[in-house]
Amino acid sequence: MTKTLNISKKSLSILLSKLRVFKSPKANLEQYPTDSNVAADALWAAFNIGLIKGKKIIDLGAGTGCLGIGCIALYAKKIDFVEIDENAIELLKINLDEHQISQKSYNIFVSDVKAIEGSYDLVVMNPPFGTKQKGTDTTFLEKAFSLSNHVLTFHKTNTSKYIEKITEKNDFKVIFRKDYKFPLKNTMQTHKRKIQRINVTGWILTKNS
Ligand code: SAH
Repeated sequence: MTKTLNISKKSLSILLSKLRVFKSPKANLEQYPTDSNVAADALWAAFNIGLIKGKKIIDLGAGTGCLGIGCIALYAKKIDFVEIDENAIELLKINLDEHQISQKSYNIFVSDVKAIEGSYDLVVMNPPFGTKQKGTDTTFLEKAFSLSNHVLTFHKTNTSKYIEKITEKNDFKVIFRKDYKFPLKNTMQTHKRKIQRINVTGWILTKNS
């Protein structure tokens, strides 16, 4: 990947918009790629807080890699991608290769997030919202809190109260919060022409010191 010294939020968004996304998204795994503008905006906020450059980061439910690849573009030291679905991993590998990302800067784990252990500077994730499999959002969040003191995560805006309650219960606090309109393009909506939008909120959560 060309590591332009003057990367901007706009150029990050353009780079992420060129990534391949799920060909046949699996509804039960809630495979919605993060919109490139939304990903760039939230990653840019984390970068400005000092959570990305030079850091060891894990991308939980990495899908086709938008968040982790964004971190690499923002000079992260190392990314661990974790994804349960082999088909998504195939596309993730193509995305990494097409952007000439050095194999030294990442690992890929084909795994359920539940099985992951370790210690990271930051977790990034756009997990299943828990609409198809109840409780998946909580599983991801609790795992994230156990892996790092900093978590960048996306959830449905209408679950905000619940997300902030678990955050507090786990002794974390909200340091960034922004509401987004999340376009669900070409995903499970093939019979509808219109792009459906859902209200999603991005958070950066930090462990209380
Ligand atoms: N993070 C990606 C994809 C978001 S969709 C992006 O931002 O574009 C959520 C992803 O979580 C899907 O790729 C799905 O396959 C994966 N996933 C769902 N349940 C999982 C689990 N238990 N363990 C690991 N990955 C899981």
